[in-house]
Amino acid sequence: MENMDSFDVLVIGGGPAGLTASIYTSRADLDTVVLDKGENKLSKADVIENYFGFDEPLSGSELLDRGKKQSKRFGTEIMDLEALSISIEGESYVVETVEGSFRGEGLILATGIQQKKPRVENLSDFEGKGVSYCVVCDGPLFRDKKCGVLGSRDYGVKEALKLHEYTENVFLLTDGKEVDADERLVRELDEKGIEVITEEVTRVFGDQLLNGAVVGGEEFDLDGLFIAIGTSGTLDFALELGIDIEDGFIQTEKDLSTGLPRLYAAGDCTGGERQISLAVGEGTEAALNLIKDLKGEIKQDWG
Ligand SMILES: Cc1cc2nc3c(=O)[nH]c(=O)nc-3n(C[C@H](O)[C@H](O)[C@H](O)COP(=O)(O)OP(=O)(O)OC[C@H]3O[C@@H](n4cnc5c(N)ncnc54)[C@H](O)[C@@H]3O)c2cc1C
Repeated sequence: MENMDSFDVLVIGGGPAGLTASIYTSRADLDTVVLDKGENKLSKADVIENYFGFDEPLSGSELLDRGKKQSKRFGTEIMDLEALSISIEGESYVVETVEGSFRGEGLILATGIQQKKPRVENLSDFEGKGVSYCVVCDGPLFRDKKCGVLGSRDYGVKEALKLHEYTENVFLLTDGKEVDADERLVRELDEKGIEVITEEVTRVFGDQLLNGAVVGGEEFDLDGLFIAIGTSGTLDFALELGIDIEDGFIQTEKDLSTGLPRLYAAGDCTGGERQISLAVGEGTEAALNLIKDLKGEIKQDWG
């Protein structure tokens, strides 16, 4: 095949999970490339204050830049490229991009989650200014404030219930749909008194910060709007490779293996709480296990 670069390890995704994995594999002298399509949502976070080791808050983009520099220092190649497809050729994985193919003996999927974006006017103008995609991350910033969660399925209902721990003033906005979620979750929604509004959400508005959304043609005041309309992405690869998926997330064993040889998944794409520290932990675990597969030994990474 033309224009094929070979590496020991291919990592798809340059977020906390993928970058951490690459730090470990590169330090273990495995030639590693990280392919990242450059749309990391963490870069929209102005303030990260719950990640260990930073006594002062830092922004998501600074954290990512530092991670990239750190990984490059050990020899990782980081390329701004979208992985378009993955195939298995002999004992290797081959990832196609618009600029050619990459062959690797081992592969780590760290593609995060891709939130489906609703068609709500002005939404991106208020991201990080009242519009959020993660209750665990930003819920505490909206304590006792009036908030909406945009979603109608399990994920949306779960986010609304989680948000209720910070404020009782929560509305589930289903954007023209009926609630289609697990009975137990719907009951809990009812018990907590979370009102469901089924009208369409067409626009958000505000000045510097979000002031509200247009719901069913009427202005509806809100301090925060959490988008939780489901997950997508990552799955194409899982489907291509025949890896198990459930509820949109890659299913792994405890050691983060996927059932295919030398193929691991790490970070948000495996489900669970979305936190940098958890993604970093999974990136570490996946990398250490892949190093063991490729080098036949456990490399204790004490430096
Ligand atoms: C606004 C915001 C604020 C947050 N604040 C916090 C916080 O304060 N504290 C905290 O702990 N967590 C926070 N989080 C959650 C945290 O960002 C995630 O849990 C973490 O980034 C997950 O890391 P990851 O590496 O698994 O995935 P990601 O960081 O999502 O990285 C995945 C990467 O893969 C790339 N990718 C996907 N598909 C492809 C492809 N086909 N080809 C190439 N590249 C691809 C994406 O572009 C992305 O760069 C926040 C999230 C958001 C959105």
